[in-house]
Amino acid sequence: MKAPERQTKIIATIGPATESDKMLESLICEGVDVMRLNMAHASHQWIREITERIRRIGKKVNREPAILMDVKGPEIRTGYLQTSVCLKRGDLIDLVFTTQPEPPKIDEVWQIEVNYDKLHEHVKSGNNVLLDNGLIPLLVVEISPQKVRCRVLQDAELKSRRHVNLPGIETGLPSITEKDRLDTLVGIECEHDFFALSFTRDADAIDLFKSFLKDNDSKAQVIAKIEDQQGVSNLEEIVSAADGLMIARGDLGIECPFEELPIIQRKSVSVCLAKGKPVIVATHLLESMIESPVPTRAEISDVANAINEEADCVMLSGETTTGLYPIECVRMLKRISSRIERELPPVLSESLRLFRPKAKMLRSAALLALRMENAAVLVFTRSGDLAAKLGALRPNGAPLYAFTDIPGLHRRLRLIWGIEPFLMEFSQDPEQTIQEAIKRLINEERVDTGDQIVTVTNVLADGKVVESIQLREVDEMLKLADSKAK
Ligand code: PEP
Repeated sequence: MKAPERQTKIIATIGPATESDKMLESLICEGVDVMRLNMAHASHQWIREITERIRRIGKKVNREPAILMDVKGPEIRTGYLQTSVCLKRGDLIDLVFTTQPEPPKIDEVWQIEVNYDKLHEHVKSGNNVLLDNGLIPLLVVEISPQKVRCRVLQDAELKSRRHVNLPGIETGLPSITEKDRLDTLVGIECEHDFFALSFTRDADAIDLFKSFLKDNDSKAQVIAKIEDQQGVSNLEEIVSAADGLMIARGDLGIECPFEELPIIQRKSVSVCLAKGKPVIVATHLLESMIESPVPTRAEISDVANAINEEADCVMLSGETTTGLYPIECVRMLKRISSRIERELPPVLSESLRLFRPKAKMLRSAALLALRMENAAVLVFTRSGDLAAKLGALRPNGAPLYAFTDIPGLHRRLRLIWGIEPFLMEFSQDPEQTIQEAIKRLINEERVDTGDQIVTVTNVLADGKVVESIQLREVDEMLKLADSKAK
């Protein structure tokens, strides 16, 4: 039995460092499971081109990664500045909503444009406003309908169009912007497999986004990105409504006290495990490798921690968009995950709640495979649910094979811990389907004569379909039949 090399999945964000055919092929062959396209930076033309490239190369190398479009969501930014502004501690700034170019200073107060007209309705004197990903802290000192006056708390240089974060403050920003809708339509046209919704604050945002997808005939799944306090407070309802969760540690570390971050991460992973939803740990995993061929010791421990917590996926951002060592980063994640997974105990997750009888049978099947020590689990799925539940049980050490006859689902299953997906036509006769699946596994040298396969599947008994757990040994006859067929 070929043991899985690793069970934690890898997401790579694509950018200038990785957009060429050659780099995409290397990423796929190295084992990237999901390619992320970040709409904060991408044009529609680029999205169409890169999607075609990823799909073409995936087919060529017989390993099709899923594509995730990361939708920008609501965000507040400062306005365009022709030259950057040197702020000094103690300076006053007026944050003003205007489309007119402002003079840089009026009566010694800087005039800085922001793109949110209701800022004054949501902040209070004494609140903190953070510019440029937290690098420039401001204190709100005075509010009027025309402006929010702040004091600069630290010397800093403000460049053009910087992020504005309002830690702990609930804003009235829409959950999906007009840009998000236009971007998503392109993702739907390109049949992207996942959409990640930035700054998800509640379940309504997910429901709204899902109905937009449905209205536009998309079967894509929706990943909620939690990035602020409100998202953290509504974690349970968000995970229930979404198809998966991304712990977007970049913004979370600005919006929440940063010592809360490890606690939020651990809690988010365990909520997802209990609900059987895939969870992604994102941002700064190998940040130093943007410029260095080796990670810091602390980064190795951070990746190991995500794997110990049993996240489904770890995600690379700057490391693969503009970094100097994108392939080395993927290799590093593989190396750390395969080593750390070997230390995890071969037991099933206790927390997953299962309701369907077939899903409950799955728990027994996975347990059997673990007890047999060298057995794989094989499932057949049309909705993806059985494979998602199998992965969420975290049967550490057993290869998990999921066959589907639904094109697209075979890519979406790549997000799930441990699952190796296959696309294959199903026969009317369940026995025929099992035999074809085992032949495929033999063909791809994943199983060999004498290996055991535990499968949860339908069988025909007296003309009726019944559920069964079966133990199949890969036999010589099947192997021979397969080699003749080839
Ligand atoms: C993050 O903030 O960690 C994140 C993944 O979001 P983005 O890269 O879209 O800012």
